[in-house]
Amino acid sequence: MSEKSQETLSNLLKEARRFPPPAELAESANVTAAAYEQASADRLGFWAEQAERLEWSKPWDEVLDWSDPPFAKWFVGGELNVAYNCVDRHVEAGLGARVAYHWEGEPGDTRTITYAELQREVAKAANALVELGVEKGDRVAIYLPMIPELPISMLACARIGATHSVVFGGFSAEALRTRIDDAQAKLVITADGGYRRGKPSALKPTVDAAVERTPSVEHVLVVRRTGEDVARHDRDVWWEDVVERQSEEHAAQPHDAEHPLYILYTSGTTGKPKGILHTTGGYLTQTAYTHHAVFDLKPETDVYWCSADIGWVTGHSYIVYGPLANGATSVLYEGTPDTPHQGRWWEIIERYGVTLFYTAPTAIRTFMKWGDDIPARSDLSSLRLLGSVGEPINPEAYVWYREHIGAGRTPVVDTWWQTETGAIMISPLPGVTAGKPGAAMKPLPGIVADVVDDQGAPVPNGGGGFLVLKEPWPSMLRTVWGDDERFVKTYWSRFPGVYFAGDGAKRDEDGDIWLLGRVDDVMLVSGHNISTTEVESALVSHPKVAESAVVGATDPVTGQAIVAFVIPRGSAGEEVEGDDFAAELRNHVAHSLGPIAKPRQIMIVPELPKTRSGKIMRRLLRDVAENRGIGDVTTLADSTVMDLISQKQASAK
Ligand code: ATP
Ligand code: MG
Repeated sequence: MSEKSQETLSNLLKEARRFPPPAELAESANVTAAAYEQASADRLGFWAEQAERLEWSKPWDEVLDWSDPPFAKWFVGGELNVAYNCVDRHVEAGLGARVAYHWEGEPGDTRTITYAELQREVAKAANALVELGVEKGDRVAIYLPMIPELPISMLACARIGATHSVVFGGFSAEALRTRIDDAQAKLVITADGGYRRGKPSALKPTVDAAVERTPSVEHVLVVRRTGEDVARHDRDVWWEDVVERQSEEHAAQPHDAEHPLYILYTSGTTGKPKGILHTTGGYLTQTAYTHHAVFDLKPETDVYWCSADIGWVTGHSYIVYGPLANGATSVLYEGTPDTPHQGRWWEIIERYGVTLFYTAPTAIRTFMKWGDDIPARSDLSSLRLLGSVGEPINPEAYVWYREHIGAGRTPVVDTWWQTETGAIMISPLPGVTAGKPGAAMKPLPGIVADVVDDQGAPVPNGGGGFLVLKEPWPSMLRTVWGDDERFVKTYWSRFPGVYFAGDGAKRDEDGDIWLLGRVDDVMLVSGHNISTTEVESALVSHPKVAESAVVGATDPVTGQAIVAFVIPRGSAGEEVEGDDFAAELRNHVAHSLGPIAKPRQIMIVPELPKTRSGKIMRRLLRDVAENRGIGDVTTLADSTVMDLISQKQASAK
């Protein structure tokens, strides 16, 4: 955006609704407003205090070594074992009978795993890894469905100091191969398959194809999940043969606070995925603290469910490491939300009495589209807090979520963070913040974020620009795996000395932060930088719109013109075809945001192109809007979506 204009983002959306914390929650909240003051008075002291939530085998000498920026070292000299902190210490504290995971498979099979059982399973898996020749510092690729063996494998790696690289089970053989190769993984842990959309979905053939050309791989460890026939190779070993017979005891060794815990590739929404490296002590400190603070977790009574896939960072930090470090009871669900019917998630919430629920705007908008009556069929009264992550949440989606899932009484926390940040950075605190629909609000205690203009100067309240992080944080990425130069160039070069997140943001009149999407997606219309997010949110605020994606298409008059793709809501489908509806929506946007934001063209479509993590891929829609051939679709969740949209466009001409 900087090349296009010196102007910062226009700030169009006005949102006046406020939702103060429920009194009861505020009174007993884990974190109060005092935390902001404490952290701003002594940021490193604050993080040192949070690190005390963990058990260290050796105390650190220095909280932060920032002598060679942007290469940070946190809790220098300290040693700890992540798996011990997530599992064993809870058992030693007498909590072995507490449920760590209520696991539910898509076909309806279930397994309840207590902390004591998790300890035994992780010990066996750790012993098996050692037997397979995996040593501290080796990399292990994990390509599994959402079954208990996935967190167990991650914890087993962490226990012995092997660095895991979890690859989302929906990725192709080629995507898996490049990730295995990049990390030079010695072992791949996979399954015959998992269940998706009511049927077995094979994984092993993808691994077989990938490891044909990955010389670093010595063994493939296979979990039997679906029981379907798979090819057997010499390198294959079976979980039931190798893991099950191991001893249930494994003595965890401490690892350095900066020991590499895992590599995780970004979702690839904007370009070639980056292998983000996270380490041990700082990562666990911040994931544990933020899970405690943002979700107000009361481990004795709460049942927590994060619906993400563990293959994304959200699953790493808020299904595995944060919740387990805090001794939480979580739900782990294998399948899709509409199998066998569209109320599956709400049944799960009712069945386990889920109190804290964390999902993504893409899911919320899908539920809006399916209709209000579906969640209404389940008893969701156990819920006391809702969270959102992954994309900006449109104000209307926020309000729908609060009303229809949270019965109009639960706070909604919109959490901004990235694979790179490792943990939540900007979010309301549920017992403190009066929530604004669509705003991530304030940096958490201990985090220093700002919105700056092209020159790196902070924008005043009411202004928009680039989101930056001004001080290092404990769970920050340490580098891009094997590519320090790319790390420096991608994140630390746009503005000297600060981390550039790649996202646009605005500060409202109260100084609160609103995310406006990626800077690559910002449109330049008649000299104004306009956020795709704001136009999308205006469209979603129309009662007949469920979801929308907006792009800037080259226009001879305005530079770029706004083109909107719109999915109608619920049963609205039939009534909304035609020019009248498009005109109505165009006027609606002009009315909400001003005439400058009025779309040139509106296309009614059945679906939008999304990545496998559920984010809208606007660059493909730009291809449609500019009448080009469609670009690379390999990271799309469903590649047929683009055909549907292109047909729609052809028939409209
Ligand atoms: P790539 O970097 O490969 O393009 P990605 O950015 O989609 O992939 P993630 O790390 O999973 O990979 O996503 C982080 C991004 O998601 C953020 O930079 C931001 O654009 C968006 N995001 C996440 N949470 C929020 C939120 N609460 N509000 C607004 N945007 C969010
Ligand atoms: Mg990114």
